[in-house]
Amino acid sequence: MIREAGTIAGFTGAGISTESGVPDFRSADSPWMQNKPIPFQLFLRSAEARREAWRRKFTMDDLYRHAAPTRGHLGIAALVAAGKMPAVITQNIDNLHQASGLSDKQVIELHGNGTYATCLACGRRHELAEIRTRFEASGEPPTCEACGGIVKSATISFGQTMPEGRLRAALELALASDLFLVLGSSLVVYPAATLPSLAKENGARLVIINREPTPLDEHADIVIAGEIGPILSRIANDL
Ligand code: NAD
Repeated sequence: MIREAGTIAGFTGAGISTESGVPDFRSADSPWMQNKPIPFQLFLRSAEARREAWRRKFTMDDLYRHAAPTRGHLGIAALVAAGKMPAVITQNIDNLHQASGLSDKQVIELHGNGTYATCLACGRRHELAEIRTRFEASGEPPTCEACGGIVKSATISFGQTMPEGRLRAALELALASDLFLVLGSSLVVYPAATLPSLAKENGARLVIINREPTPLDEHADIVIAGEIGPILSRIANDL
């Protein structure tokens, strides 16, 4: 199918990063599940919620700071380099597709990026190291030095609107594809999980590579119930 395809849309979830030690979201013992997520409205309303969000963020960053691209990320990068995949659509926030060599244009991040922060008022980018120094010195959640606005990790929280441009770019790629390749996603987070079905309804073949069943398995042309690392290594070698 890869050989026959003109345009492949890659679609990745937390499962592509587990090989590098970053746990996924829904598996047993996932650290992401140990704390109730802080919804966007609460983050805006409460300085205490913002303080807690930054405390959690820096704790997690310390745990996963050595994460490196996996064989899955490298396989995707090989498909992009071969001219088969214009971009990968990802639900991940870990920046590992870029770390595998893809440009920002080649990665459509539906849920943002956790390796930097932005001001919610003026959009200015803030580096985490500098925010952390300020936070640890003052104990106060960071605000923007330029405009005084609230600064937040550049990820999309529960209840926060997804940037329209990114969703549109993902939809365009899904509809342009003749092969839609899902890697390591439970396919239960919406609206991201609508993309494989839309591609399929538009005539693309749908392939799902995931170690556990997903709600879309019955609509897929192929389901490979296995580990992403060895499968993508083989694909990259064959390319
Ligand atoms: P998910 O945790 O809901 O699903 C991951 C799926 O990948 C599971 O079905 C799991 O069985 C499978 N999986 C895990 N490791 C695998 C491997 N090595 N080989 C094959 N399959 C494997 O993740 P999701 O669907 O991406 O949704 C979770 C949400 O949480 C997303 O919005 C994502 O942004 C966020 N999240 C991101 C990260 C990250 O950036 N690395 C980590 C955790 C959560």
